[in-house]
Amino acid sequence: MISLADAQARIRAALPPVGARTERVELAAALGLVLAGDVVAAESVPPFANTAMDGYAVQAGDTLTASPETPVRLHVVGELPAGTAPSRSVGRGEAIRIMTGAPMPEGADAVVMVERTQRDGDDGVLIDVMAAVGEHVRPAGGDVAPGDVVFAAGTVLHPAHLGVLASLDHQQVVVCAPARVAVLSTGDELVAHGPLAPGKIRDANRPMLGALVTEAGALPVDFGIARDDEALIRARIAEAVDSCDVLLTSGAVSVGDYDFVKVAIEALVAERGGSYEWQQVAIKPAKPLAFGTVRAADGRTVAVFGLPGNPVSSHVSFELFARPALRAIGGHGATAERPVVSVRAAEAFRRRPDGKLHLDRVTVTVGADGVLECRRSGFQASNVLSGMANANGLAMVADGDGVEAGATLPVMLLDTP
Ligand code: AMP
Ligand code: MG
Repeated sequence: MISLADAQARIRAALPPVGARTERVELAAALGLVLAGDVVAAESVPPFANTAMDGYAVQAGDTLTASPETPVRLHVVGELPAGTAPSRSVGRGEAIRIMTGAPMPEGADAVVMVERTQRDGDDGVLIDVMAAVGEHVRPAGGDVAPGDVVFAAGTVLHPAHLGVLASLDHQQVVVCAPARVAVLSTGDELVAHGPLAPGKIRDANRPMLGALVTEAGALPVDFGIARDDEALIRARIAEAVDSCDVLLTSGAVSVGDYDFVKVAIEALVAERGGSYEWQQVAIKPAKPLAFGTVRAADGRTVAVFGLPGNPVSSHVSFELFARPALRAIGGHGATAERPVVSVRAAEAFRRRPDGKLHLDRVTVTVGADGVLECRRSGFQASNVLSGMANANGLAMVADGDGVEAGATLPVMLLDTP
């Protein structure tokens, strides 16, 4: 058996370079994708000096003596709503009524907020506070200046990034192409839907893995169900390798008589080139790991994960091995991995020593004192998917006798607590 960290390191070492394939996408389609290159500003944001407040644009020097007891009267010479270009300047003793976001008129060097003013007749305003030069003025380029590297390559695009890019008129953006991920189920017992003949079950892994791929920010491609037939499985794997960046199969990777996925990957690697390994990883669940890289017809390196058939094992194996890989292919560096955080055990996590790291499905919540705590999310057998469905974390219970309630243990967060 090899350790979890070893298994993950071997996979990382065999993958193609992070974010090797790039593409140009519309801004609206860029959420969650990773910038392929630096974005350099050609313009200023904001494009002109403007007011941060509704009020009056003034010359600060006119307000030196202003106070609530001795307000200063200025002559109002115009009005500037947002979106309007100034048509005249502010001279000594003058003010222009101005709304948030409107450009600063020539001559004015400060804004007095409307709350510190009072209209005085048709053409006057009383100012009751001294304004400092630059007060309530947002300078041109105060957010972004031309030549600035606004966002560096590798930035994961969140909604605010898209807003900044739009303000710079970047309608499209060059990103690392999200991995295209083929999802193939194997097994003579599987049907997609409908009534079950004796001995048959419905395919739970394909919809689950497809959704996990989507959640990871990649693009699932449905390769259906393959019967337990070596030639058929091999043909489907070859087809997936030639059209996708990653292939996830489930089932047929243990030591049963019909476990053809291993043989098929191995044969394809021998024929096309690449690497292949079948490992026993010191974890429970998801011990068997079949992983290969296969040379596609066009020369690309495609990662193939033979995930275990039991749905919980399949899910856990995806989280530990496949998800970081397909995110790295999509350009994620530090954000390829799920966060592992310290969480308080709300109940005892007992176990027996067996040389393995146990990954218990847990529900993580915020305790009354604000500290994260976890408890098991139901029955823990590797075929009981409902326990996984209610989990938002994987508690990593080290080899030994487990931990008592109140102790702290590392938990990989799968969702927000
Ligand atoms: P295998 O490794 O192919 O022998 O599969 C191990 C267990 O997982 C068996 O009980 C299979 O019936 C089950 N299994 C395999 N694939 C799926 C699937 N796609 N959906 C639900 N159960 C599956
Ligand atoms: Mg099978």
